[in-house]
Amino acid sequence: MTKRIRHNMFAVALLVIAVSAALFLTVLYEYFSSVEFKRMRSLLDTASQGIVHEGMEYFDGLDPKEYRITWIGTDGAVLYDSVSDALSMENHFAREEVKKALAYGYGESSRNSATLTQRYLYSAKRLNDGTIVRISVTQNSLITLTFGMVQPVMIILIVALIISAVLSGRLAKKIVNPLNELDLDHPLENEEYDEIAPLLRRIDSQQREIGMQKETLEKRKKEFEMVTANMSDGLVLLNQNQVILTINNAAARILNADKDAVGKNIDEVSRDVELAKVLTKAAGGSSAYVTQDVDVRTFQFNANPIVSEGTVIGIALIIMDVTEREKNESMRREFTANVSHELKTPLHTILGSSELLVNNMVKPEDVPEFSKRIYKESKRMVNLVEDIIKLSRLDEGMVDMKWEDADIYTLASYAIDSLESEAAKKNVKITLSGDHVSIYCIPTLISSIIYNLCDNGIKYNYDGGLVNVDISKDNTGTCLTVTDTGIGIPAEYQERIFERFFRVDKSHSKEIGGTGLGLSIVKHAAKLHNAKVEIESKVNKGTVIRIVFVN
Ligand code: ADP
Repeated sequence: MTKRIRHNMFAVALLVIAVSAALFLTVLYEYFSSVEFKRMRSLLDTASQGIVHEGMEYFDGLDPKEYRITWIGTDGAVLYDSVSDALSMENHFAREEVKKALAYGYGESSRNSATLTQRYLYSAKRLNDGTIVRISVTQNSLITLTFGMVQPVMIILIVALIISAVLSGRLAKKIVNPLNELDLDHPLENEEYDEIAPLLRRIDSQQREIGMQKETLEKRKKEFEMVTANMSDGLVLLNQNQVILTINNAAARILNADKDAVGKNIDEVSRDVELAKVLTKAAGGSSAYVTQDVDVRTFQFNANPIVSEGTVIGIALIIMDVTEREKNESMRREFTANVSHELKTPLHTILGSSELLVNNMVKPEDVPEFSKRIYKESKRMVNLVEDIIKLSRLDEGMVDMKWEDADIYTLASYAIDSLESEAAKKNVKITLSGDHVSIYCIPTLISSIIYNLCDNGIKYNYDGGLVNVDISKDNTGTCLTVTDTGIGIPAEYQERIFERFFRVDKSHSKEIGGTGLGLSIVKHAAKLHNAKVEIESKVNKGTVIRIVFVN
């Protein structure tokens, strides 16, 4: 800016000097011309008087050095000229000064020489006899004068330019310095120039607006960080060059990235080829996902392009923990396969036996045995189907079942009653102890829990064994304990017996009518009641299964 002001001032000084020199020269020149005309007029008057009195004799001995005198006759022919031969000169009536003198008695004019270096001033007067006397002088033309003045003017110009250069530099600094020292943080506190007050007011209002926008952005950023920090899913935002813009805690944990991952390229954080492939796809504008195992968990990496005005400006990578979903899916697949398998065996037995009976291929004495087999397998199928229905209803959350207060002791006594004959067949004694405790529950499910636990206690017991159901209550909650003196469960299977269709001894369990679903129902029903399941068991000694309904 200083430079610009200096240049402009310099140019203005140059222009002013040039214009004033030209004006000065013109005015001076015109002034000298008018002085010259005045002098010529008085000379003309003297000459006129001389001619009037003496006629042509006036010119005798007249030798004017500084001017030229011409006497023009009434017909325009030159009668006398102090420089040229009068006879050889052309008619002078056409000359401007002569025309004027003829018309008004006196006339003036000026003409430049052909080379423009000289200027001729003419002054003419009409005498009473109609003749004209004319005096002319030669003057240097304005151009000659200008050329003559070039040197002094140049000297003046150079001096003036030096002075203006120095002054303009100082002046420019003086103007600019206050601008450089403006306090733009507090624009309205500057009082140096009134002219920039509107600009300062504008800066102030814009600064306030920017401040407000900054605050809103900060707030939004904090909200965004708070939301994403507490998200269980991982979230990584990348720009179009796959540089990390934000990464939340969950994503940093899953990708094993540190805090300063922001600003790094994603390939510095994860070298996974499959992830790189989905990111490339997203960068190309289409969403993609890949499922990967990280340690013991399974994650789904969803890469979605962020599109603005038709171009991909970034990628949103969402990482979801799908371990449970994958586990459930594989469990469902396994369950379907198991159900088909479990149903196939009794169906084959029933089909085979009934086919033989229908075709009369069974000896009459074997018919009861075949019928018994068909009955047993059908019963097993019915039990299995009932258990499957119970489990699938449990999976759905038993939404249609009624919750109410029920006495577990009473429910246990009903279950024991219904198992009495089973127990008698196996010569197992089943007893009930403890207190009457009422809990808020789905009574049919509690009955199922007690029935399945007692049924197992009887099924996996020795001849003459014992099964006891105990109901108690303490500060932590209500406890339902089923103890048996049976075969026990090896430690390595104690976790797995709650899985669907898991049996410690498959053939033995099938033989005694087990479906492999009883304990799964127990586990699910307990979970629905927010109850804990605990197990203690020793092979050949017996098993204790405790269901604790927490208060
Ligand atoms: P099942 O219908 O085969 O009894 P469960 O789910 O009730 O199926 O039990 C799963 C397996 O756990 C049984 O097959 C058995 O091997 C074992 N088990 C369950 N309860 C007992 C128990 N009280 N004593 C010994 N083994 C048991």
